[in-house]
This record gives sequence, C-alpha cells and structure tokens, in this order.
Amino acid sequence: MDILLMKPVFKDAIWGGTKLRTDFGYDVAGDTIGECWAISAHKQGDCEIATGEFAGKKLSWLWENRKDLFNNREEKVFPLLTKIIDAKQDLSIQVHPNDEYANAHENGSLGKTECWYVLDCEEGTEIVIGHNAKTKEELVSMIDNQEWDKLIRRVPVHKGDFFQIEPGTVHAIKGGTVILETQQSSDITYRVYDYDRLSNGKKRELHIDKSKDVIKVPYEGKKEDSYKKDSDNQWLDIMVECDFYTVWHGFVNGNAELVQNRDFMLVSVVDGDGTIDGVSISKGSHFILPCGYKKAKLEGNMELVCSALPVR
Ligand code: ZN
Repeated sequence: MDILLMKPVFKDAIWGGTKLRTDFGYDVAGDTIGECWAISAHKQGDCEIATGEFAGKKLSWLWENRKDLFNNREEKVFPLLTKIIDAKQDLSIQVHPNDEYANAHENGSLGKTECWYVLDCEEGTEIVIGHNAKTKEELVSMIDNQEWDKLIRRVPVHKGDFFQIEPGTVHAIKGGTVILETQQSSDITYRVYDYDRLSNGKKRELHIDKSKDVIKVPYEGKKEDSYKKDSDNQWLDIMVECDFYTVWHGFVNGNAELVQNRDFMLVSVVDGDGTIDGVSISKGSHFILPCGYKKAKLEGNMELVCSALPVR
C-alpha cells in the first residue's frame, strides 16, 4: 500500500508573501502567495495525488470512488483541510460560524472549527484571538462605533505555539506569521474588520451582521500548557482532540514508528527531511496514510504535524 502524496494548491492573497516558495521550496510564482492548500478536497482547491497508482486523481474523486481507503466514512465530502498560511501582512479580523449556522445560512456548508500550529513568526508578533466585550450589547456597540482597539484581544505569539479556534471566536494572524492550519473543510469566513485596507482600490466586503450573530460573548479562551502523549505513538503529543479532529505534533530524531490507528491519517512534514517506508519526504511534503496502512517506518530528522477524524 502506498502513501497518498499530495500536490498542493496555492492561493494568492493581498496579505501573502513569498515564504511558500523561499522557505518551503514550492514551485509557485508571485509575491503575494498567501496559502498552500496542502491536503484538501474542497471545491475551491482540490488536491491531486502526486505519485503512485492514483497519480493525477483528485482527492475528492478518491473520497467518492475509493471509500475503502478511508474506512468507508459516511461524510459527504472529505471533512478536513490542511493549509500552510504565510502572512506577510495582517489578515482581516474574522469569525466563523458553526455547522448549524452555516447549514442554515450558507447553503448547507460546513461550519469551521480550525487550529493553528505556529511554524514561524517574527520577534514581538501578536495574534488576535477573542475580544473584550462582556455582553452582546457591548459587542454590537463596539463594532458599530468601530472601537477596534478596545474590542480586539491580542496575545503574544511564538514559534511552536498552538491555538484551537472554535466557531464564534474572533481571530486573525498578523504579518510575519507562518502557520499550519488544520480545519473543517469549509471556506465560510465572516470578515469583521479589515484595517480599512484597499484591494484593487476598494475595501473588501465585511460581514458585520453575520459576525454579530455568531461571535460568542463573552470570549472564553483556554490555552493548554502541557500536552498528552499518544498511547500508540509516544513521540507524538496530542495538541487537540475535538468533535472534528485530533491533531498531533512531534519530532523524528533518527527513526520512529508511526502507528496509523485511525480510519486514515493526514501527515505534514513541517521541517527537516527523511523517508517514510523508503519514500523520500521533506519540509513541505503532505500525505495521507490510508485505511489499512497500519505502521510506517520513519527515518531522518523531521518535525511532523498529523491529524485525523475523531474515532467513530
Ligand atoms: Zn479562520
């Protein structure tokens, strides 16, 4: 059985930079490359399989036609999306709906729970996570009066930090930050504030009413300060386990065995290089270990982020 090695899809953005080319080595042109959709079957960016038996097939095609590879999961669409985001400039301040709200207001789309593993950031960088309003009335009045400095909660960010972003959480990464994002396969984003920037001479659309609907008040954040070890893979920390995914992080120093104990597993190499069962992989490689791929032998010096759907 082969690993399913992905061919990422790239997205330009006004806030994007060049690190996806210069730091990750992807063959992509432009000076405002914002996102690498690394493992995705979303219709806005459906990755092809790069090598092997399924080379050239789209991940969405595999999800529909080779259910055996995913242990016959019943979700209509491939439910996860892995991205790398290079923010050269600040991203707009935004919020996502949950499944229920998105289903009702966005043509049956999935909501969006996401999480960030910080791959790199400049000294002194902050991120936006949460807000300071105590009641819905206060939130609405701060938004209406554009009191952004009062409303927006900022915290310092460092390489190696991890953040879980629940629906209803106001959030944004700021310029100088590179993250790996694991998320539900959705692109429903409500923009609350865009720093009054112009894109092609115009301000980008805001979604103030929907934002007011979905922002949770008050903000209740929690930050893990230690992580559990995975029982089968002691070299992996479990960064988060929620209703939509489990995300792990770990380092391979020399060699390690990866026990694929889920329906299928998504793996991203975020630093270093090495091999998996003899296949070369390096920083920027992303692949799926399909159902039945029970154990993988890893060699080299690598940092990995892995994810999977929750156990049914
Ligand atoms: Zn988001």
